[in-house]
Amino acid sequence: MASFTNKYSKTVKYMKVHFGIIMSLVLLFCFSSFGCNAADKKEFDLIPLATLEAAFNQFKEPAITDRRFKHADIQPLIEKHKGAFDIADLGKSVEGRSISNLKWGAGKTKVMLWSQMHGNESTATMALFDLFNFLDASGDEYEELRNTLKTQLNLSFIPMLNPDGADAFKRRNALDIDLNRDAISQISPEAVILKSARDSFEPTFGFNLHDQQVYYNVKGTPKQATISILAPAYNVETEVNDVRERAMQTIVGMNEVLQQVIPGQVGKYDDEFEPRAFGDNIQKWGTSTILIESGGYTDDPEKQYIRQLNFMIILNALHQIATKAYTQYNTDQYFAIPDNGVQLMDLILNEVQVKVGGKLYPIDLAIRRRESEANGSFFVSGSVEDLGDMQVFFGFEELEATGLTFTEGKVFEKVFENVEALDKAKALELLKQGYMAVKVKNGVAKQLHSLPILVLKSNDKFSSGWTTGSTPNFFLSKDGDLKYAVVNGYLIDLENPKEQEFKQRIF
Ligand SMILES: [Zn+2]
Repeated sequence: MASFTNKYSKTVKYMKVHFGIIMSLVLLFCFSSFGCNAADKKEFDLIPLATLEAAFNQFKEPAITDRRFKHADIQPLIEKHKGAFDIADLGKSVEGRSISNLKWGAGKTKVMLWSQMHGNESTATMALFDLFNFLDASGDEYEELRNTLKTQLNLSFIPMLNPDGADAFKRRNALDIDLNRDAISQISPEAVILKSARDSFEPTFGFNLHDQQVYYNVKGTPKQATISILAPAYNVETEVNDVRERAMQTIVGMNEVLQQVIPGQVGKYDDEFEPRAFGDNIQKWGTSTILIESGGYTDDPEKQYIRQLNFMIILNALHQIATKAYTQYNTDQYFAIPDNGVQLMDLILNEVQVKVGGKLYPIDLAIRRRESEANGSFFVSGSVEDLGDMQVFFGFEELEATGLTFTEGKVFEKVFENVEALDKAKALELLKQGYMAVKVKNGVAKQLHSLPILVLKSNDKFSSGWTTGSTPNFFLSKDGDLKYAVVNGYLIDLENPKEQEFKQRIF
């Protein structure tokens, strides 16, 4: 310790002596005609934030209003751009759905953008249709910007690369293959289509557009990573060549836009090389590849604000590429973007008392509620992800449960005709009496409902527990009084229930 202090103070002294000299040199260098690029910066006109926002509002595709649109929904939207775009059918998915390519622009720099290779990752696809509307318009205040793009760029879009996955709203294709692990083997027709499109077009820039789970945060902070970015590695050494550098530079410019609207909510993905992934390989094949991952944002379950952010940063990036404005940024600025974490939970209950062997232990419970597709919508399944000391995680909702005890719930004796025979008020009344579940005579498993109580049809019992993997269905009580219910991972304050939406199913 002593030697460290000594060394440190010596260094400080050295720095103080030399600081003045160094600063004078820096200033001198800046005033000369080369060096410090503060003045150079002005050479590039960036699109003002207000313009990006206004353009989105004006050109947002009104036919798409939520995440679950299908292949059939986008066909008329592709069709309507036939005049302004060159449209081609690149081939068919496993189940025979068409995969379309839209081309626009007469410039030299080729840029390829592909979205939704994971079927349930549709945010960027929405933004691409907004962008098509923008590019297809004319004679307005955006004409100069549009002209810059048109004369400099040659754009190639593949929206919805995995239409079978999109129709089932699931990640993988109809062969149950993850297309992002099929860049080399080329087992799936969708993978063949993407690879051939890249090989025949040979774009300078590529945009690989995805969604990530909502539990991503900016590492070490409670802030959700609404957008994550990556210039994927092209080798295991994660080296930086010209190709990857251009992607990094462009990302820095995109991040400048994002920091103005979602400060602290952009995370950088781990760049470990994945030999089977498209992003990594397309970078390796010589296309400067940018990965955009759309995460979650408060009160935006259908990701409509994140759709806007995608529109804004893609337009910003295309403009940067058209004007070469990205050259003003450097890789240090890219590496300075904070890393992603996966430290978010839907609910954290701190210091719940659980009784084991007659003894009470205070444990933190970390709970997530994951979505499952059903009947064109979804239900959630709550799960205890981890427990013990949960201080490294952040909850969208947290409760200090000190002094509250884990308490099992009961099944209500009377059988209801169907789920409609109950309402929220009645369900709440039953919860207050210690009932966690009701039974119904009519109904089918996986039928959706929005009651704050479990509904059983084919089961007499429900699962519960506080250990990892358990379904969080229990009460929290104090001196025998029920204070809170945790139903399928939803927290309900029994005395003071807040307005919330329950995405439930019949068991
Ligand atoms: Zn993905």
